[in-house]
Amino acid sequence: MSRPLLGVIADDFTGATDVAGMLVQAGMSTLLTVGVPAPDAGTAALDADAVVVALKSRTTPVDEAVAQSLAALERLRAAGCERFYFKVCSTFDSTPRGNIGPVAEALMQALGADFTIACPAFPENGRSVYRGHLFVGDVLLSDSGMKDHPLTPMTDANLVRWLQAQTSLRVGLLAHASVAAGAPAIAERIAALRAQGVRIAIADAIDNADLGRLGAACADLPLLVAGSGLALGLPAAYAARGRLRADARAAALPAVGGHAAVLSGSCSTATLAQVQRWIGDGRPAFRIDALALGLGQPAAAEALAWAQARLADGPVLVHATTDPDHVRAAQQQLGTERAGALVEHCLAEVAVGLHQAGVRRLVVAGGETSGAVVQALGVQRLRVGPPIDPGVPWTQAEGRDLLLALKSGNFGGVDFFAKALGQVA
Ligand code: ADP
Repeated sequence: MSRPLLGVIADDFTGATDVAGMLVQAGMSTLLTVGVPAPDAGTAALDADAVVVALKSRTTPVDEAVAQSLAALERLRAAGCERFYFKVCSTFDSTPRGNIGPVAEALMQALGADFTIACPAFPENGRSVYRGHLFVGDVLLSDSGMKDHPLTPMTDANLVRWLQAQTSLRVGLLAHASVAAGAPAIAERIAALRAQGVRIAIADAIDNADLGRLGAACADLPLLVAGSGLALGLPAAYAARGRLRADARAAALPAVGGHAAVLSGSCSTATLAQVQRWIGDGRPAFRIDALALGLGQPAAAEALAWAQARLADGPVLVHATTDPDHVRAAQQQLGTERAGALVEHCLAEVAVGLHQAGVRRLVVAGGETSGAVVQALGVQRLRVGPPIDPGVPWTQAEGRDLLLALKSGNFGGVDFFAKALGQVA
């Protein structure tokens, strides 16, 4: 039984599994809670080195995001956490109104913290920060696909300027020259920035070594604001301070047996290729048609009957994944929201039926889809296990014989489904 040291507040669900996977990989046992853990859950139940609270606060109104984040902070403090991490998207998804700035400001105030760094870098997935500018692969954020995002169009890659628009706290730059020079140089630069009145510094990082040095230098700050990358360096920094015994077994999950299945409600490019690979390999797949759902066809029951006849022979895939033209057609006919809700509801029903039919290892593709499935299965806590691909770990529904791999749309290699299922028994 350990008391958690680190409390992470994640602004979306698959972002929470991403950061949790990083912590586990680096040796911290980690528990993920879906939403703010209920106060009556008791602190004894949060038995891990780190607790990650998965919120849905990235694009909610600012007031709601702040209130949710403060509620999460309060529970994490009550559970014994002493260091805090506000996990944001590696493309710094936000608007001039928020939510990163206002949430960071509120958390700092609640913690009495007068300084923090903000660093979305995730070099392994092509996100790097240099001179305060965020790059996605070889292009500036503002030249990447993120400039057209429907909710958070990122039209400026200068994160100092972008974050400054969101907060009254002074934003500055912790530039790469200091980061590359190591922890003492970083500490010196932070002291200088503080003296200038800077309260949040965008930190440059272009590779994992930079993130390691930032972790070593900043592990004593009460709050860090970052993508998942910075989490890789923290366990070693806590261990060096005698705050943690990094454990190679942090990632161990039990074998659960039972049947295996894949559910996909994601239509992102990476998922499309993964579904095509599964089918191309001659594996069994059942397609849910959104338009048929709109007509009231019992697609979930049909999918379950189909799956039940095959589960004993190996894993099956049930998916609504389709190309952009078909998605657009369904959205035009049914409305975007209704089409999404119908598909999510159907896949959640299939998940419950598959579980009743003995499925104990389940891969789910899609952020929103994962949220719907986890909710339908009544999962409130996940113990985080080993990584499958960068940003996607296996997890276990706490205390249950049920393993879940929850994949955000654009994550994972082309053979992700088979690879994931090949890793667990
Ligand atoms: P991603 O992580 O790739 O964004 P999500 O699950 O978060 O995936 O979002 C995909 C959304 O698209 C969900 O709301 C899902 O229900 C919806 N959807 C899936 N398939 C279809 C389809 N064939 N037609 C219309 N909407 C769909």
